Amino acid sequence: MTIAPTLEQKPLRDTHGRTIKYLRISVTDRCDLRCRYCMSEKMTFLPRSKLLSLEEIAIIAERFIARGVTKIRLSGGEPLVRRDVAELVQRLGHNIGANGRGGGLEELTMTTNGTRLAQHAEAMVDAGIRRVNVSMDSRDPERFRYITRHGDVSQVIGGIYAARDAGLAIKINMVALKGFNEDEIAPMLAWCRDEGFDLSLIETMPLGAIDEDRTDRFLPLTKVFDDLGQQFTLARDAHKTGGPARYWNVDGTRTRLGLISPLTANFCEGCNRVRLTTEGKLYMCLGHDDQVDLKAALREGGTAGLDEAIDAGLFAKPKAHDFRIGQGEGPAVARHMSVTGG
Ligand code: SAM
Ligand code: SF4
Repeated sequence: MTIAPTLEQKPLRDTHGRTIKYLRISVTDRCDLRCRYCMSEKMTFLPRSKLLSLEEIAIIAERFIARGVTKIRLSGGEPLVRRDVAELVQRLGHNIGANGRGGGLEELTMTTNGTRLAQHAEAMVDAGIRRVNVSMDSRDPERFRYITRHGDVSQVIGGIYAARDAGLAIKINMVALKGFNEDEIAPMLAWCRDEGFDLSLIETMPLGAIDEDRTDRFLPLTKVFDDLGQQFTLARDAHKTGGPARYWNVDGTRTRLGLISPLTANFCEGCNRVRLTTEGKLYMCLGHDDQVDLKAALREGGTAGLDEAIDAGLFAKPKAHDFRIGQGEGPAVARHMSVTGG
């Protein structure tokens, strides 16, 4: 007689044979910056009454961990603007198996714009976070203010150093933008190499309406990579995250260069992730509209309802995104990256 696995044992597998190990959570759609490729200047944010409570986020995250998720990334919007984020980090940190904590979570991380990182870094380390991604598209104060519409880059750089001093490993995220920061990519990589940070370059993706045409700023990373190869020794690194990035080791140091190029190279076949919005919707793909409402499922059906909705979601996970950038192409989906959690 075969015994059916309990839900705890039943892995999160989609219909394309991919096992889901990675949950990204957008803890808020709000942000203290307004990056031009991400948001329009006058963004409308969700009313607070629509958001998942901290307790609900934790219950959903812990259900995913019980069912095999080993990595969680907190993102947004800007995760550090959510008032109770420190409490959430602490609660989720208890699920990290390493460092003497009990639980199946291997890694808890965050993507942040860094403006408030200095205040939070030590508490993040205490909670078990070991690495953060910090987004910074330019180190030049004027350019940074322009692209974020009002940001102060010295705050971000201060946050990065404070995080490093607190013991966090740093990866810089830089969106490569034609006619804006092309000339800063090589200096950014040299800075990261000298400071011991990793760097991920990102192609701008057609997510949500903004005040400009993304085509004008689209910079294919294939070209960027060729140029970097003239100035740095780049050796292919086998590191795999199940995401759209490929990695290279830089000049024989520990610095890793990542290229996130969903437009010029599609790696969806290995996708191992799903995304929870701050409103409680589970999106199976950044570039598709299929979603299940985990907030309603949890409120109406408890953990059993949650499991059922998660399974329905997995069943609908698409094989790949179909992002296109070009004249006349609108956004692939109406949602901004800040809603789904980048
Ligand atoms: N606010 C945090 C930050 O900026 O790091 C976390 C959320 S943000 C949406 C996550 C990442 O998505 C950032 O590195 C940002 O540059 C990137 N991003 C936002 N909109 C994007 C777009 N349309 N295409 C490509 N990357 C985008
Ligand atoms: Fe805010 Fe991050 Fe979007 Fe910039 S990229 S507007 S920091 S959410």
